[in-house]
Amino acid sequence: MKQPHPEYPPVNGKTYSLFGNSDSTSGYYETIRKLADEVINNNPLTTGFIEEIRIFSRGKRNLRRCLKNNDPGNRMSAILSLIDPQLRKYTEKVDEHLRKLPITKFWDFRLSTTREQYHLYMLEIELTNRLYASEFLKADRKIALMPYCLQDFSVSCKAGKNGFDYQCKHCSKICYQNHASMILEENNIEPYIWMGGDMKQLAKYTLHEKRTFGVLGIACVPELTNGMRTCRKNHIPVVGIPLNGNCCIRWHEEFFPNSIDLEELERMLKQE
Ligand code: SF4
Repeated sequence: MKQPHPEYPPVNGKTYSLFGNSDSTSGYYETIRKLADEVINNNPLTTGFIEEIRIFSRGKRNLRRCLKNNDPGNRMSAILSLIDPQLRKYTEKVDEHLRKLPITKFWDFRLSTTREQYHLYMLEIELTNRLYASEFLKADRKIALMPYCLQDFSVSCKAGKNGFDYQCKHCSKICYQNHASMILEENNIEPYIWMGGDMKQLAKYTLHEKRTFGVLGIACVPELTNGMRTCRKNHIPVVGIPLNGNCCIRWHEEFFPNSIDLEELERMLKQE
């Protein structure tokens, strides 16, 4: 029997929240889908195009300049000008976070992500999902990597090492890790809480057995973007669902509850 989803209160990330100012994340997913449709109406969806967005997103100052000058003749600049105003409600706290970030922490690419970069990363995740969903779903072996910060911190987590990495033992009905693991298992995807398993090694072994291999990532926006880039670089079909906010110890110096949109996860896995 299908488990009812747990309660879905808004989460308040340190820099972003996919709830925006509402009590649901459906607005975010509708917006990012609509923006991706517009972008690929004018640009072919290829790995080369996503790579162009990746390279463009590196230059923080250039992104601000592009937004200010708004040159419609420049393809990447036009894309940024299209997506930026519509995604700002999800990243309201980025600038305040960057103002207070100690200079010694700017080396951490996740912590120093700018608002414009968040918006390009959100688009990059959606486009990568579209490009790879079908290949991922067809893979012989599929694994999902979830962050430990998605667990229920009100109980003592019983997850234990099993095979590639840690797996949930389903001890809490309100734990998002638990619900995501069940959805993934129902869809023939091995769910792991990523504590240090060597993904490249696993991919190598699986491919050596002449089986195709795919990865589903769940992480905060900067971390997920980075992981998906590594998979693309290694020709591993990858899809991803961003955490609804960035709430872990890296950002807040303590853990706050987090969630993902479980309906979006189900939707992604039902694609043909
Ligand atoms: S349900 Fe799973 S991940 Fe959540 S606290 Fe229990 S064992 Fe840990």
